[in-house]
Amino acid sequence: MALQPEIEKALNDQITAEFASSYAYLGMAAFLEAESLPGMAQWMRTQSQEEWTHGMKIYQFVLDRDGRVALGQLDTATTEFDSPLAVFEAAAAHERKITGLINDLYAKATEARDFASLPLLDWFVAEQVEEEAAVNQIVDDLRRAGGEGHTILMLDREMAARTAVPAESGA
Ligand code: MG
Repeated sequence: MALQPEIEKALNDQITAEFASSYAYLGMAAFLEAESLPGMAQWMRTQSQEEWTHGMKIYQFVLDRDGRVALGQLDTATTEFDSPLAVFEAAAAHERKITGLINDLYAKATEARDFASLPLLDWFVAEQVEEEAAVNQIVDDLRRAGGEGHTILMLDREMAARTAVPAESGA
């Protein structure tokens, strides 16, 4: 079944939102690296790459459904934050916003009886649970660390272990 215009638009908006996430996280990564936190910067760069693969997942889906891709405007990505904690708090707030957008998209697809979109959106619903849990854990760790340099250094070195996932896994 061809994509209905309002579902096509909603999917295109989500493509832009995922690419905007990628761009926002790239800005956060630049701040973290400039603050001499290479592990946290690496974690955030990987996050940025993942968001790009999320956008591409929907991009391909729109094309597979014989829809037309429309790419929206990306906002300026800030590279200035008050602290590493402020970065991850902003990332957590951003993920909560994305979860809301995915939920709205899911409701729209269900209402329009666009059942072909639901397996894709199920994947995104599950992914958002993981995204929020991961970033909330880092916020908790950083809050617990307070300004304690040694603990922040330890967290930074731990977070360096995160490496990019292959694009085709879509994670
Ligand atoms: Mg995403």
